[in-house]
Amino acid sequence: MVRINAWRRKARKVFFFEKKKQKTFVLGASETRQRAASSARDGEVQTHMSHYDLIVVGSGPGGAALAHRLAPTGKKILLIERGDYLPRAQANWDSKTVFVDGTYQASETWYGADGRSFHPGLHYYVGGNSKMYGAALFRLRERDFGEIVHQHGISPAWPLSYVDFEPFYTEAETLFAVHGQRGEDPNEPPASGPYPHPPVSHEPRIQALSDSLAADGLHPFHLPLGIKLTEHNGKPTPTSVCIRCDAFDGFPCLLNGKADAQVMCVDPMLASHPNVELLTNTLVTKLQTDPTGRSISGVHGVREGEQLVLTADIVVVACGALSSALLLLRSGNDAHPGGLANGSGQVGRNYMRHNQSVLMALLREPNDTVFQKTLAVSDFYFGADDWDYPLGLIQMCAKSHGDQIKGELLPGTLDFLPDMPFETMARHSMDFWLSSEDLPRPENRIYYDGERVVLDVHEQGGEAHRRLKKKLEYHLSRNAAHLVLLERKLYLGKGIPIGGTAHQAGTARFGTDPASSVLNLDCRAHEIDNLYVTDASFFPSIGAVNPTLTIIANALRVAAHIQQRLCA
Ligand SMILES: Cc1cc2nc3c(=O)[nH]c(=O)nc-3n(C[C@H](O)[C@H](O)[C@H](O)COP(=O)(O)OP(=O)(O)OC[C@H]3O[C@@H](n4cnc5c(N)ncnc54)[C@H](O)[C@@H]3O)c2cc1C
Ligand code: SF4
Repeated sequence: MVRINAWRRKARKVFFFEKKKQKTFVLGASETRQRAASSARDGEVQTHMSHYDLIVVGSGPGGAALAHRLAPTGKKILLIERGDYLPRAQANWDSKTVFVDGTYQASETWYGADGRSFHPGLHYYVGGNSKMYGAALFRLRERDFGEIVHQHGISPAWPLSYVDFEPFYTEAETLFAVHGQRGEDPNEPPASGPYPHPPVSHEPRIQALSDSLAADGLHPFHLPLGIKLTEHNGKPTPTSVCIRCDAFDGFPCLLNGKADAQVMCVDPMLASHPNVELLTNTLVTKLQTDPTGRSISGVHGVREGEQLVLTADIVVVACGALSSALLLLRSGNDAHPGGLANGSGQVGRNYMRHNQSVLMALLREPNDTVFQKTLAVSDFYFGADDWDYPLGLIQMCAKSHGDQIKGELLPGTLDFLPDMPFETMARHSMDFWLSSEDLPRPENRIYYDGERVVLDVHEQGGEAHRRLKKKLEYHLSRNAAHLVLLERKLYLGKGIPIGGTAHQAGTARFGTDPASSVLNLDCRAHEIDNLYVTDASFFPSIGAVNPTLTIIANALRVAAHIQQRLCA
């Protein structure tokens, strides 16, 4: 008999199947729907395993947006997340805790192809890496969907065009509360409507920078941001969730003001759709196929030492591009000897992550901006007067904090302020994040070497990125005397370059040819009828804008397809 608490109106259960003992454990609704589910209830024995219409693995933007879109179907949906809810605490906003100690970073050790170990910049929480992200939510440019010639090679065309994605970009911007201003960004793609929210206003120093860049002939624009902010005269209103603090970038938001996947998708979905369950602290270890190899017949996981097997009509993997590839690779079987859905040999390959730098401009005058991440420049996205190839995107990021600078061991002597203490340096800083496109190359890949995870990255496209930095330096020096531009690395994860996995993409690309791609145009595995992947694995190229709005838009696109299938 199953014990059902009085308050449980519906006996929604997750069944734990411990293979060795051939015993199935039951978890009730409270454990699965609420955070911090902690222990299975031994002794509640069932004779059958639980079956879902849909299982989604990973609660980051790619998994959560898809589940959120499908929740109103009433289908039985299980969202599985290896991490827990990120604890809300004042330490969320402490730069030493976040950047120097890396408290929220996953304690993974991976290896480069040279055998050197590193810690990837991954975050295992409900909401995934979006708990830490900067919420700059860009659409890819229309030309990014076509072939683009770079100095160091070709960025391949996507098998679908921007027009195919446009309605889903619009839906994604609404879902993630994007603030912005159409018509300012000289390279923005056509959109079917305005941004759902007005742009986040510049503080006076950033407005002055915007004016001077415009006077230089550039087209600075308001950075599109996913944020729960309402402003009046540049100040948050009394009811605004976001308070425009100095921790909007790389920090989790203590107030849930950032539009991350937990806040925008998981929490509202669980609150209003009892057909959806969330299972936290559950690592999916393997996907099992039926004997034909054409269908996923079991999702194997481990939760606090207990093995579990769950089944679903459709399984969606959205573990992040690197972790999804690893899951497919370790799920190989007789029907899929090189890893699941890997007949093409492309799983784990074509890894892209942007060429990126975080730069701190040290100004003679203090910069008292609090919320700095409001401006971007795309004038050099596809080239420059002195360069025929794409350079990339410049955007602002959060103000440097003294602890971060100290943690990054910047040069001890600076010519114009030799004894500058770290807090003073932070006060004089103005901070930028630069990204240039890197190209999909088969040799850039993630794979297992025995038990070890190896990430093989060959740097490329350095000249375009170097020129982009020079452009920024040139334009800043025209309006800020005695400028010093310093490279920073903690923001994107310790040990850049290889540990900088924030913008991971491309490890299971979509396409029409099963010989050269892993997924078809619906992001379904060519070789497995009920397996989809909806993180950035599917990207054939990455452009130079931040990837998450495209991940969300694609997840919504795939959800529309799965809805037809589930409800047929
Ligand atoms: C510091 C930082 C700043 C960033 N800033 C921006 C920005 O401004 N704009 C932007 O567009 N992007 C930004 N990004 C990138 C952005 O966070 C990612 O693009 C986005 O989170 C990817 O979403 P996803 O769902 O594909 O994967 P993830 O967010 O990585 O989510 C995957 C989830 O799957 C879970 N998981 C993994 N493996 C398993 C398993 N085997 N079993 C169960 N669960 C599993 C993980 O715990 C995780 O919760 C930033 C990232 C970082 C780290
Ligand atoms: S700026 Fe707003 S969203 Fe960002 S951390 Fe502060 S309160 Fe949260």
